[in-house]
Amino acid sequence: MSLANGRPYLAIPGPSVMPDAVLNAMHAASPNIYEGALPEMVAGLIPDLRAVARTSGDVAIYIANGHGAWEAALANTVAPGEKVLIPATGRFGFGWGEMAEGLGIEVEMLDFGRQTPIDPDAVAAALRADTGQKIKAVLAVHVDTSSSLRNDIAALRQALDEVGHPALLMADCIASLVCDRFEMDAWGADVTLTGSQKGLMVPPGLGFVFFNARAAAQRAAMPRVSRYWDWAPRADPQAFYQYSCGTAPTHHLLGLRAALDLIHAEGLEAIWTRHATLARAIWAAAEAWGTSGPLRLNVADPAHRSHAVTALRLGAPFGARLRAWTESQAGVTLGIGLGMSEPDDPNGTGFFRFGHMGHVNAHMVLGLLGTVEAGLAAQNIPFGPGALSAAAKVIAEAAPG
Ligand SMILES: *Cc1c(COP(=O)(O)O)cnc(C)c1O
Repeated sequence: MSLANGRPYLAIPGPSVMPDAVLNAMHAASPNIYEGALPEMVAGLIPDLRAVARTSGDVAIYIANGHGAWEAALANTVAPGEKVLIPATGRFGFGWGEMAEGLGIEVEMLDFGRQTPIDPDAVAAALRADTGQKIKAVLAVHVDTSSSLRNDIAALRQALDEVGHPALLMADCIASLVCDRFEMDAWGADVTLTGSQKGLMVPPGLGFVFFNARAAAQRAAMPRVSRYWDWAPRADPQAFYQYSCGTAPTHHLLGLRAALDLIHAEGLEAIWTRHATLARAIWAAAEAWGTSGPLRLNVADPAHRSHAVTALRLGAPFGARLRAWTESQAGVTLGIGLGMSEPDDPNGTGFFRFGHMGHVNAHMVLGLLGTVEAGLAAQNIPFGPGALSAAAKVIAEAAPG
């Protein structure tokens, strides 16, 4: 017997749940790409995108996923043989490093493990050791989706400034943008990247690279930038739409317009607060479950936990069993553990993740938590009492009405 029929909930950290308004906007006949409503709409996307990244800089739009945005950011700023410094707190820091290596860039990794955030002092020390200033960029993942650690981007800016190192500061906000507070200009990121399918609530397929004047100057000094990734034409709405970049991603742009309308109607601060509150409800439940039995939040300190994604450990084989149960019996798909191998669990099947990014509200999170508790019980995995009441209390106190 299964209780899965009904509206499914894909509670993985991207692609995220898509609002009906986004889906409906995309349900349209092919538009004229040369003139009319769609080309005219593109210029208006730019200020709204700038607003979600809190920047007055430029933004280039690519038909690409996050991996494309990774490559685009590097292709514009770091030449083969030059170097990047990557302070990593999970799988995605290493993934970005692999993209850099593919471009012939030398990569220096600083591995902070999977449970503690980037230490800005260690980054400062690595920059100080780079007396020849071969490092052209520091690549920092704001929220590493594998570990659910959130890093302090402003503290990295301070580290660069203290050392007086000219490297660009790049922030991967693919998981965090619109979910966790992020202030590109105030925090001093020179380049920020994101994708369409997480906080922006649009299907995978659009990559965004925001860049400031310092990054544009580094781009201008490059000996060569591959034509497809060149951000200069893509940051110009006219060129992006009609001249230099090929057919525009028509339906993704329609979906993005609808998503940005939703974001601006709710307000970025309100969205950040919603994500923070729902995350606290999840943590409260997880902490109660963990008072007895094997379940643990991956990140111990709430100050370093993302509000968009939560990685949890049950240990093998329980993690995989729980995910199988919630999907087949209750219609909730949980995220797999990513890059979380352990000596006795090479595939990291003991870990799982909740995606709570974008179009997610209180009843979805309470349903998610109730489903997980049912799954733990059904699989005879021990857990502590009071998790659902603890989560409900967080939500009740945050929203007295
Ligand atoms: C999802 C994600 C990526 C990769 O994005 P894709 O669209 O899957 O290529 C990179 N970095 C972070 C932090 C992510 O969450």
